Amino acid sequence: MFKRLLERMFHDDLDIQQRLLNLILSTALVGGFLSMFATLVIGGGLASGIAVFVVLIIVVVSLYLSVFLNKMTAAAVLITGMADLFIFPWMYYNSGGMYSGMPVWFVLGLVFTWLTLKGKICYIMYILDVVVMIGCMTLGAHHPEWFVMMPEGYMMSDIIQSVILVTCIIGVIFKFQTSVYEKQRAKLLEQDEQLFIANKAKSQFLANMSHEIRTPINGIIGMNTMLLNNCENGDISEIREYAKNIQSASQTLLSIINDILDISKIESGRMEIIPSEYELFSVLNDCYNMNLIRAREKHIGLKMEIDPSLPSALYGDEVHIRQIINNFLSNAVKYTTVGEVVLRMRSEERDGEQIRLRIEVQDSGIGIKRDEMGKLFQNFTRLDEKRNRHIEGTGLGLSLTKKLVDLMDGKIEVESEYGRGSTFTVCLSQKVVKEEPIGDFAEKYRAFIRMEQEKGRRFTAPDAQILVVDDVEMNLKVARGLLRPTKVKLDLVYSGEECLEMIKKKKYDLIFMDHMMPELDGVETLVRMREDRDHLNVRTPVIVLTANAVVGAKEQYLEKGFADYLSKPIQEDEMIDMVYRYLPEELIHSEDSGEEKMPSQSGAAEEEKEPSRSGSAAEEEKTLSPSGSAAEEEKEPSPSGSAEKAAPEKERFPSLDRATGMKYCLDDEDFYLEMIGTYVEGDRRGDLSAAYKEKKWQDYKTFAHSVKSTSMNIGAVELSARAKSMEEAAGRGDEAFLSAQHESFLEEYGKLLEELKAGLKEEKP
Ligand code: ADP
Repeated sequence: MFKRLLERMFHDDLDIQQRLLNLILSTALVGGFLSMFATLVIGGGLASGIAVFVVLIIVVVSLYLSVFLNKMTAAAVLITGMADLFIFPWMYYNSGGMYSGMPVWFVLGLVFTWLTLKGKICYIMYILDVVVMIGCMTLGAHHPEWFVMMPEGYMMSDIIQSVILVTCIIGVIFKFQTSVYEKQRAKLLEQDEQLFIANKAKSQFLANMSHEIRTPINGIIGMNTMLLNNCENGDISEIREYAKNIQSASQTLLSIINDILDISKIESGRMEIIPSEYELFSVLNDCYNMNLIRAREKHIGLKMEIDPSLPSALYGDEVHIRQIINNFLSNAVKYTTVGEVVLRMRSEERDGEQIRLRIEVQDSGIGIKRDEMGKLFQNFTRLDEKRNRHIEGTGLGLSLTKKLVDLMDGKIEVESEYGRGSTFTVCLSQKVVKEEPIGDFAEKYRAFIRMEQEKGRRFTAPDAQILVVDDVEMNLKVARGLLRPTKVKLDLVYSGEECLEMIKKKKYDLIFMDHMMPELDGVETLVRMREDRDHLNVRTPVIVLTANAVVGAKEQYLEKGFADYLSKPIQEDEMIDMVYRYLPEELIHSEDSGEEKMPSQSGAAEEEKEPSRSGSAAEEEKTLSPSGSAAEEEKEPSPSGSAEKAAPEKERFPSLDRATGMKYCLDDEDFYLEMIGTYVEGDRRGDLSAAYKEKKWQDYKTFAHSVKSTSMNIGAVELSARAKSMEEAAGRGDEAFLSAQHESFLEEYGKLLEELKAGLKEEKP
């Protein structure tokens, strides 16, 4: 407690004047107690006893004011006022006035005033003290008989003693001031040095960074030059290689810049934690994929040891969790030359909905020297610079990781043995969303890879039987066009009733069924299919085709018994994907003769690949989304060709948005024209009018729905929107809206049909 009191009285953060005052007051307190004791023991008389006691009380009050209430000015005024205005004059009177040591004490009192007070109050007190002192001395000179005189010997010793004491006190005060000043100077010097070191680290960082940034930029410029040179008559695979390298270098550049931005965001307090629901497998899978290629290139293993009982879906900042795991994994791979890197994840603690995840990344790499561990998480700091100078890096990754973990109230630990390897651990709390266990990572990963590889692969299924049910002929044609490349055997029917008949006659491998159909709609048809089990398609998966792309619609359809859901307008790759997913494996014939590439989850690189440092990021991309990139790569852009074709179309069908229409027609000109023809033939005006007259709003809704989707398919975007509003009005039975709009809607529809008819005639010579 005494230590705490001292700390409070002389803390470095306190104003130097306050510390000085506290020093003087505490000395006076000790002195006061001693003289009180002396007065009592020697018997100095009641008057001096009372005087010392009063002084003690004033000292205690002043100390209290300064130390506990932080009222430093009040304390200083109280003590200097009491001493200079009352105690010293009283002592002056009692000890012989000018013929005593008291004038020296007046000097001390006046010096105190300067030392302990600030501003106006200092001058006021000083003037008051001087006036009182002059008063005392004038009185003493004119009326020495009024003063209590001491014997001569005592007088001399009093003067000597006072001079010594006062100079001692002033000396101590100066010493104290100097020591405080020295201490502060040392502190400033230390801060200066730290600033210098930080500045040096920053300069070093900038130098590294310029190098790190310049390397990919040089790569991009160089590769682009090659690309330009080869544009005219170069080999397409070579061009592709250059483009891949450009992509990879750009990604490296982007990640460096992202790190810098993240650090500056965190330092300026602008980084936010944005929680959302996420699938744990997807995070782990992405992190694994991102680092796998690099690990393979270096011939080191990458193992995932994920506790299968972990919950499958969590709530937290997914983006930053990915970033943290990725930073650990990429460092581990980067700083390891032989052996393996293992990612372990398990639950450290479970408390209701909260789970504390423990994520460990262990490597058998170069390790970290004990004395360098402290610098690990500093911005811009790279360790073992000499040894690591050939390894790319900026020294930002770990400091960023640490800051992110701190932001998420997590904990980060490192264990390392130089030359043997390191383990980076982070513990983070997340909320559990889905208790269902994540299961065996390896198994899930294999399934994922298979799906991804197969997605991008072209296949045929000539023995597969597929049924498509839709009341709109055009939709059936779209489905036929989209499925043509797969060579499946297709049956197309126009209604739920026909579907129910067909399933009795033929066994199908897959059925696509429209939801909105007049009479028996898709859902009702499925219900009947499931109720009446006297047919050949009890187990056939049925996929619903619908324009109801609202949130939660998918779940509703699945609940009703559909195997899956395809939203209209149907996209080619989605439909092909469904076929692939739901057809039995034995019916699928792969068009790729390429060998199956199935990266094993735990093993080191099994298949040897030409390691291309710069190509890695591009390959990563491909692993993650083979379908997207492969498809893009294969499409040969022919901007000039399509523009030429587009022009006459634009004049022929001015109301159509050709790009939209072509998108739904596989960019196939003839197919597009065929679709327009089917659209004209499928004129729904009669049906709409009949339903309107008889106020059969449910039918009206179905017809409007069909106008909506078929119009969209050919690019009649405006009419499609109009039909949508009619469909919705019919859905809510809004007669007022319908009667106001029906005529003009039919008129607009009619106009479009006329325009299309005329345009189509133009085509035929
Ligand atoms: P860098 O971009 O240099 O990798 P980091 O901030 O990610 O920056 O790491 C800082 C330093 O810590 C690295 O330069 C490296 O010296 C050391 N380090 C990080 N991870 C490891 C590891 N797994 N094994 C050995 N050293 C590591």
